[in-house]
Amino acid sequence: MKIVKYPHPALRHKSRDLTMIDKQVRLYAARMLELMYEARGLGLAANQVALPFRLLVMNSTADAQQREHEHVLINPQILDRKGSMEGEEGCLSLPDLYQKVRRARTVTVQAYNLEGHALEITCSDLPSRILQHEIDHLDGVLFIDKMGTIAKLSSRGILRALESDYRRAQERGEIPPDAEILRMLAALEAGAVPPPEPPESPPPPAQGENGQPPPIL
Ligand SMILES: [Zn+2]
Repeated sequence: MKIVKYPHPALRHKSRDLTMIDKQVRLYAARMLELMYEARGLGLAANQVALPFRLLVMNSTADAQQREHEHVLINPQILDRKGSMEGEEGCLSLPDLYQKVRRARTVTVQAYNLEGHALEITCSDLPSRILQHEIDHLDGVLFIDKMGTIAKLSSRGILRALESDYRRAQERGEIPPDAEILRMLAALEAGAVPPPEPPESPPPPAQGENGQPPPIL
């Protein structure tokens, strides 16, 4: 399992709800948490590791020692949005791209945890931004879709570079052709279990404005 980069087709896949929480789902969640911490992200959605499931992990501190901030959410749904805020975001699947995105300030989210218990979370500011960003991923929506016109224009160069990196990796055989990826996603959704893959080393953490890294979600 590894974090896939734009324009990997899994990032545009609208995932269906998980119908059961078994050992495989717990293994996926554990590996996603490892990858998130290694990459110094604050959240990671299953689409970002090419899994077509409504599963996300997050920790608004990015610190694996602060387990009280760690959440694994299954089939999350936004029940309510309040207020508005604008802030800079990054994404582990769109390295080196940081732009301002407007989101609801406060959200109420309903989900299941790994024990299968239903829970309801109401949060604001950074945890709210993370939840909205990750739930968008589960719907195949990326933060580049939510940017204003100027941010979109100024992102074009980085997006083109990511697209050409991706196509070159496919030409080298490092990434399967898109049609094969789509077949794999369909097989996973139908219940097939893939073989485990060795992890790749994470990218170095980026520096944002004022030398402070912006949240990478
Ligand atoms: Zn993201």
